[in-house]
Amino acid sequence: MTTPMRNIQHAITSGQAGPEDYAALPLPDAMRAVTTHRDETDMFEGLESWDKDPRQSLHVDEVALPQVGPNEALVAVMASSINFNTVWSAIFEPIPTFQFLKRAAKRSPWDQRHDLPYHILGSDAAGVILRVGPGVTLFKPGDEVTIHCNYVDMQAPDGHDDSMLDPDQRIWGFETNFGGLAEIALVRANQLMPKPPQLTWEEAASMPLVNSTAYRMLVSPNGTQIKQGDIVLIWGAVGGLGGFALQYVLNAGAFPICVVSSADKVKLCETIGARWVIDRNAQGYRFWNEDGSQNSRELRRFGQDIRDLTGGEDPDVVYEHPGRETFGASVFVARPGGKVVTCASTSGYEHEYDNRYLWMNKKQIIGSHFANYREAWEANRLVVKRAIHPLLSETYPLDRTGEAALQVHHNKQIGKMGVLCLAPEDGLGVSDEEGRARHIGQINLYRNAVKGEFRLVKTEP
Ligand code: NAP
Repeated sequence: MTTPMRNIQHAITSGQAGPEDYAALPLPDAMRAVTTHRDETDMFEGLESWDKDPRQSLHVDEVALPQVGPNEALVAVMASSINFNTVWSAIFEPIPTFQFLKRAAKRSPWDQRHDLPYHILGSDAAGVILRVGPGVTLFKPGDEVTIHCNYVDMQAPDGHDDSMLDPDQRIWGFETNFGGLAEIALVRANQLMPKPPQLTWEEAASMPLVNSTAYRMLVSPNGTQIKQGDIVLIWGAVGGLGGFALQYVLNAGAFPICVVSSADKVKLCETIGARWVIDRNAQGYRFWNEDGSQNSRELRRFGQDIRDLTGGEDPDVVYEHPGRETFGASVFVARPGGKVVTCASTSGYEHEYDNRYLWMNKKQIIGSHFANYREAWEANRLVVKRAIHPLLSETYPLDRTGEAALQVHHNKQIGKMGVLCLAPEDGLGVSDEEGRARHIGQINLYRNAVKGEFRLVKTEP
């Protein structure tokens, strides 16, 4: 680590530096960052997705520090996390992300900074602001922040009701360069949110992308706006997205039906508060026949298993992201008038479903993608208020990001995986010890459950 970088790390971990100290800290010329390389995008040619190994394509490089522009900030990243988009980038699917960078660069001279032979990944981060560019008013050097990944500057009229509709909206660290898996990240000021003070750096960094996405899909008027008593089927209920969906459903006084793939995950869902859980592995559903058609007998068996749990009711909402594998089942099991809200297609994006079940029963499919600033802010506020909790199972050092991404690629993780960037160890960054002490029970509950020690810790109101 260079001396300027060590000084930045020391200023943060010592907790002694004020805003002026941060603004005066010399910036390093270079930083360590997790990258993919443009000249390696065909390295996995001919391999099945499963066999493409992120440990080969993700590098930790020393790269130049980008210049901060108008309405931007440079943030010292204490921790980041692995999202599934890290996996997509690392296996160059469905397309190499360098195509996004090239497209983004056409927009303006400032955007040309992103078009480089390397791509710094990462769509989550928690850290401390080092510099702000001209025009930044809400945040200043020294502020502790989490970063959401909606990268948009709102010049087009289209996005002014909902910035996710802006034609230039991008996902930071996936469709832009200079993401969070680095010692310093470059972000737009409207990506910044206050760091929940009771959380460690890695807990805070594990949340913005999946938490905001789940909020929009389930709580926001742009999604399904679930209400008390709704039955919500959650695929992957203790995965990245699912672990937050489960909390939103419980907070709403609605009833989750969790679908997961192991006995451990069943137990974790129950520990978090779900009554109805289906182990899809134990049930061995085969929604697809050998000839590529959908197996209606299996769809009915799945529907019946749901009714057996709920006392005969069908889901009001289905929270979809596995995609091709499950989408037909999701449309089938939603109740008449029910909604399938989808944000992804992990198992394939060419979905098939029997449309008779949709139109005859007046069901709706709602497409959802990340979250606007307001939604991300609300989701973050619920974390600050300790109504939504991290579900972090493991933390890796920056050097081992490839290994962490492989775990996510092969569905081996529970909840989220953190990555330490400038944080020298995990457990640092809590500035509200009293708040943490009062609510540590809830946080511990999830952590212990993840580790297989199911210990219900009573939380104080
Ligand atoms: P994750 O942490 O890997 O969790 C996904 C969960 O889905 C897994 O834990 C797994 O749970 C379940 N699953 C995986 N394959 C499945 C299959 N074939 N059938 C049924 N269940 C399956 O990933 P994530 O962070 O939740 O992200 C999920 C997807 O959403 C990814 O494709 C990601 O790129 C996308 N995403 C999109 C947005 C957006 O804004 N558009 C935001 C976040 C994520 P079990 O094995 O326990 O069933």
